[in-house]
Amino acid sequence: MGKSANQYLKPLTTEINANGNLSVGGCDLVDLAKTYKTPLYIIDEFTLREVCKNYKDAFSKYEKINLMYASKALCTSAITTIIAGEGFGFDVVSGGELFTVYNSGVDMKRVLFNGNNKTYEELEMAINYGIGRISVDNFSELKLLNDIAKQKNKVADILLRITPGIECHTHEYIQTGHLDSKFGFDMSQIDEALILIKNKYKNLNLKGLHAHTGSQIFELKVYQDEVEILIKEILRIKAKYDIDISEINLGGGLGVKYTDSDNPPSVFDVSEIIINTIKNMCEKYNVDYPKIYLEPGRSIISTSGVTLYTVGSQKQVPNGKKYVAVDGGMADNPRPSLYQAEYVAQVANKPNERNYEKVTIAGRYCESGDILIKDIDLPKLEEGDVICVYNTGSYNYSMASNYNRTQKSAMVLVNSGLSDIIVNRETLDDLIRYDVIPSRLKEC
Ligand SMILES: *Cc1c(COP(=O)(O)O)cnc(C)c1O
Repeated sequence: MGKSANQYLKPLTTEINANGNLSVGGCDLVDLAKTYKTPLYIIDEFTLREVCKNYKDAFSKYEKINLMYASKALCTSAITTIIAGEGFGFDVVSGGELFTVYNSGVDMKRVLFNGNNKTYEELEMAINYGIGRISVDNFSELKLLNDIAKQKNKVADILLRITPGIECHTHEYIQTGHLDSKFGFDMSQIDEALILIKNKYKNLNLKGLHAHTGSQIFELKVYQDEVEILIKEILRIKAKYDIDISEINLGGGLGVKYTDSDNPPSVFDVSEIIINTIKNMCEKYNVDYPKIYLEPGRSIISTSGVTLYTVGSQKQVPNGKKYVAVDGGMADNPRPSLYQAEYVAQVANKPNERNYEKVTIAGRYCESGDILIKDIDLPKLEEGDVICVYNTGSYNYSMASNYNRTQKSAMVLVNSGLSDIIVNRETLDDLIRYDVIPSRLKEC
């Protein structure tokens, strides 16, 4: 079945061009750095569309599949337009993400709203937009959503977010009866929620169950266990309350290859285990196949993204590390300082040079923890060299900040030698746009 795009470390179009520079999407990265300045986020449209196609191919043999992209990984108007064009729906977790997909002309029936503390305004907005599903996370939200739907004389189609007691880490996972998680109903609280929905909350229509077991998943068995637990729960609910539940949302979480030692499974392996488990369960218990939702984020957008930085100062600690500072860091990619995430980089203007030395790529922000890559072998670096960090499509721009009062970086979409700005670089004026000086401060 071959590899899927999430199993590659670099965008699929990455090559060394005739100038001896790195190129992605047919665009010379050194030229892009000159034209658009750095730090610069780049998204390779080919790789993005390819992984969407991988998902569609992988699940094409299961009729009742609803693929959604978890927008929190990267949500901009151009990105949502591309992914909607590939036939995906969207999982959103805020009014801002909801507004972005709405504004991109996405069919609202294909959108699902997640989150453990959605506000009144956000839920109201979701209902006004005619959103397809709301995944209800807790008892307060059941009541709040029912109240809002009632006021509007509507019935909201909901999923119940549950914590199935599977917890996955990157290379292993544990299964427990109860999980200490801020998300969703504990398995022991489901009955109480069902009774409330059945007897009291007449403006809620329960369509399905929703679980999301974690992120950067490498273990296929997580999906098997998740499907088994959810289908068993549907059977239990049917037997005990005669409530028909026809949808299960398996969440996202498939891993990507940040470094050479990461070996995420392919989308095809994931689909095989999910579909086989469903078939086995449904045949064994003689029930209809459920409608399946999947909401991958990272595995859709990560591999298509790279970030360019320009090398500035260097510091050799006597008898210690050599630090090479670049013009970005934790404000454009907080993952290394947040959770020791590892990345791989190459030098865009001399990818073929072999005079390696071990360096640590430091960010420009005023925090000792602002290190992008620890101990990487790169050709001897000089001021002005352009560093290309791979696999930055997910949870980089979407987690970016203006720390140290810096402007957020621009984002460029590349394809077949064309490059287009899809997010403008912030300006100095943008930084003070929302500042207010009360007039009494000016009077003295
Ligand atoms: C974060 C999240 C996702 C996406 O996770 P990825 O690891 O990016 O695939 C999907 N569903 C829910 C409920 C999430 O919280």
